[in-house]
Amino acid sequence: MTAPVATDCAHPAPAKLAHSPLREGAAWALARVATGLHATFGPRTRGGFGILMYHRVSEEYSGVDCPTINVTPARLREQLAGLLSRGFTPWPLERLIASCDAGQPVPAKAFAVTFDDGFANNLSAALPILESLCVPATLFLATAFLDSPMPFPNDNWSGAGAAGVPDVAWRPLTTDEAHQLQASGLVSLGAHTHTHQFFVERPEEFRADLSQCVSILRERFGVERPMFSFPFGLATPELVAIAKQSGVCCGLMTRPDCVLPGQDPFRWGRFGVTTADTPATLAAKLGGWYSPLARSLRAVQRPLALVGPRGLREHLNRRNPSFAFAGEKSKPTAIEI
Ligand SMILES: [Zn+2]
Repeated sequence: MTAPVATDCAHPAPAKLAHSPLREGAAWALARVATGLHATFGPRTRGGFGILMYHRVSEEYSGVDCPTINVTPARLREQLAGLLSRGFTPWPLERLIASCDAGQPVPAKAFAVTFDDGFANNLSAALPILESLCVPATLFLATAFLDSPMPFPNDNWSGAGAAGVPDVAWRPLTTDEAHQLQASGLVSLGAHTHTHQFFVERPEEFRADLSQCVSILRERFGVERPMFSFPFGLATPELVAIAKQSGVCCGLMTRPDCVLPGQDPFRWGRFGVTTADTPATLAAKLGGWYSPLARSLRAVQRPLALVGPRGLREHLNRRNPSFAFAGEKSKPTAIEI
């Protein structure tokens, strides 16, 4: 099977996965329903664990839009402290991988914290919180942007690079800052490809790009077998196979699912965290209630998406590419794995 994989993605998205207030509102509502179920029935998942995915950790600034893919520092502290007070135990991702590889059980309520892309505020804002709460984390670096004074090309926040907004809110880490994170002993550096592109249907470019990222992590940071997360959370079985040949030890996606015992670490999902998440909603996600609700919502959304001219047009283009409407290429059907 070579069809591309689409997952719920909290990354800055390529055009066809653009920011959607409707989708974010539905996710917010789902989280609250899941919270109620978790409060009533307790954890749904037994023997598994969850992985949280963060990106930017920044204050909000007056006069500019709220930062995207962001959790404020105060909210990050509240979320993590709230999970700890509920009995959740943060484990380094590499420890979870090693335990699963060895077939050893993982404690109930274990979870891992990850950050994607490599924002400078992961050092200035997030690390002090991680240190004060003793929470380990993995930071997946898009290595091409280390030391860049420009915003990430996929940063869709209007405040990125804008006058009056401190650059620490949007700029990538410098190499020295990434070393400081590593030296903290709490943060492990992982791979997120070199240039953070949309690699579906571009397997050889993916292979070369990931190889460059792995080389930089080894040569500049001494990381021999890095953990890896797919940019945009998108992969195909072909890309998964290439990742397994590229010297990385996992391939995380962004499908909002708990990891179950025995599951291939190159298909582990993660829960994207927003500043709207409370400790209760995160506990519900990690407890396994969010995922089945999200799947149910998607099952309803798919037929509804055919209602209306755009949905019908895309459907017809998929069914018969020769009838593709002017200016549109037929897109392969998205399949989740
Ligand atoms: Zn990313």
